[in-house]
Amino acid sequence: MTAQIIDGKAFAARLRTRIATQVQALAGQGITPGLAVVLLGEDPASQVYVRSKGRMTREVGMASFEHRLPQQTSQQELLDLIQKLNDDPAVHGILVQLPLPSHMDEGAVINAITPEKDVDGFHILNVGRLATGQRAMVPCTPLGCLMLLRDHLGSLAGRNAVVIGRSNIVGKPMAQLLLRDSATVTIAHSRTEDLPALCRRADILVAAVGRPAFVKGDWIKPGATVIDVGINRTEDGLVGDVDHEGASQVAGAFTPVPGGVGPMTIACLLANTLTATARIHGLPDPDGLTP
Ligand code: NAD
Repeated sequence: MTAQIIDGKAFAARLRTRIATQVQALAGQGITPGLAVVLLGEDPASQVYVRSKGRMTREVGMASFEHRLPQQTSQQELLDLIQKLNDDPAVHGILVQLPLPSHMDEGAVINAITPEKDVDGFHILNVGRLATGQRAMVPCTPLGCLMLLRDHLGSLAGRNAVVIGRSNIVGKPMAQLLLRDSATVTIAHSRTEDLPALCRRADILVAAVGRPAFVKGDWIKPGATVIDVGINRTEDGLVGDVDHEGASQVAGAFTPVPGGVGPMTIACLLANTLTATARIHGLPDPDGLTP
């Protein structure tokens, strides 16, 4: 069997086009969604992310506000900036680029963002809302994975899903979203016993580990849908958490790296900014952008 490739890059481009159309419609009502991105320090990977986030924000017709602060900025200075952005009516989404310098309390910073503008979905209120099935802002990467899965499989109800990784930004919210779609969900992690056997039972396998080509072809159930969240920089370039050569022999479909989940993350950040804008203005949620 040769697995189908789930083209996240193409899906994300279509999603951005739909978002741009909805942004145009809002312009008719005098509303321009605004996304503020805050970056501390000079980390090169973060600089690249922030630049491409800014470019894509402008491309869909939203306003982009970039705040670059020195590494040694105090936590209070950062909290003061967040407060200003919370109060600014031109700003509908606030993203503080992680990781933060070690002298900062990441939780305190994230929870200072007003939950309605928390487009990363990391605020404790949004985490709780997602877990209890209430209207939340949903973390971008798992939201992108969910969109790809629904597009490829239709209903996820009753399917066996295994999520490898229990981080707050990918693994846990991914499991919540799958559960919300009535999949039967198992979360695996570094202490899980006999991971290959567990994976072999998965109709849906999501890998969010951070180890190059960690999931081997013979761990995959024939015909399964495999979502590779991993981004690992190696001498051979960007590599996912799944051994793609192995996966392509066994899986029904899988997301490539690059060109799979990565482009969906930024597109979902724009989707969340549009959703936040609509909610702040008391409008209905935009079509097809929320879980
Ligand atoms: P993390 O380091 O916070 O979490 C990794 C998880 O993997 C942990 O929960 C750990 O228990 C689990 N793990 C580690 N070793 C394991 C093992 N041997 N067996 C089973 N589980 C094991 O990482 P993260 O932030 O969740 O990110 C995971 C990967 O996804 C990274 O490669 C990251 O770069 C990538 N990522 C990609 C995007 C995107 O946009 N595509 C976004 C976020 C993260």
